[in-house]
Amino acid sequence: MPPVIAIAPCRTLPDYEESVRRAGGNPRVLDWAGDPVARVLATCDGVLIPGGIDVNPASYGQGVHPTVTDVSDERDAYEIALVRAALAADMPILAICRGMQVMNVAMGGTLVQDIPSQIESDLKHAIVNPKNAIAHVVWVTPGSRLAELMREELSEGDTLQVNSRHHQSVSRLAEGFDVTATAPDGIIEAMEHRSARFCLGVQWHPENFWRTGEFRPLFEGFVAASTT
Ligand code: MN
Repeated sequence: MPPVIAIAPCRTLPDYEESVRRAGGNPRVLDWAGDPVARVLATCDGVLIPGGIDVNPASYGQGVHPTVTDVSDERDAYEIALVRAALAADMPILAICRGMQVMNVAMGGTLVQDIPSQIESDLKHAIVNPKNAIAHVVWVTPGSRLAELMREELSEGDTLQVNSRHHQSVSRLAEGFDVTATAPDGIIEAMEHRSARFCLGVQWHPENFWRTGEFRPLFEGFVAASTT
């Protein structure tokens, strides 16, 4: 039986579902009302937290930057609870873009609320079209799970080409995690929990590459860890 991969609801589900399917998993899209966190833990094998709108800065104790205009307290609360419960149960977690930011906030970290006005950089972190356009490289930490999974795709030993659609990023890293990829401007592009079975976040959108497969090893590693 393929492992059931819970996907928190978002506006761009098909690429996440197809990426999970092609990695051998059985995607199941959750809904906030019908899938309380305890039920997800009892009926699923892994949790994918997808991309989307900004996390409400109130959840990490900050006032709201003017560029943060679209938040959902209901979505934040559901995903934060899901991350905490899955990590406590050592259920595998793959967190993508907003998902990585949610994971960091859930475990006590903070975010950069607006990269363009708060970080000095000449990289483009917000290329919207096409979704798989290469925006910048990331340098992957040798010895990390990400480096191990992506070893066939790394150039010059530690470099990956990625897309990028975010105006926020991880600021103070949550306790228990390591940074496992950074952009050349220092922006945190991946994080992993040090002792969990599988708990990995990426700031880019690997799900947009299912047609060409560049990031299939990442989804395969996640699905494999979710196979009990
Ligand atoms: Mn980026």
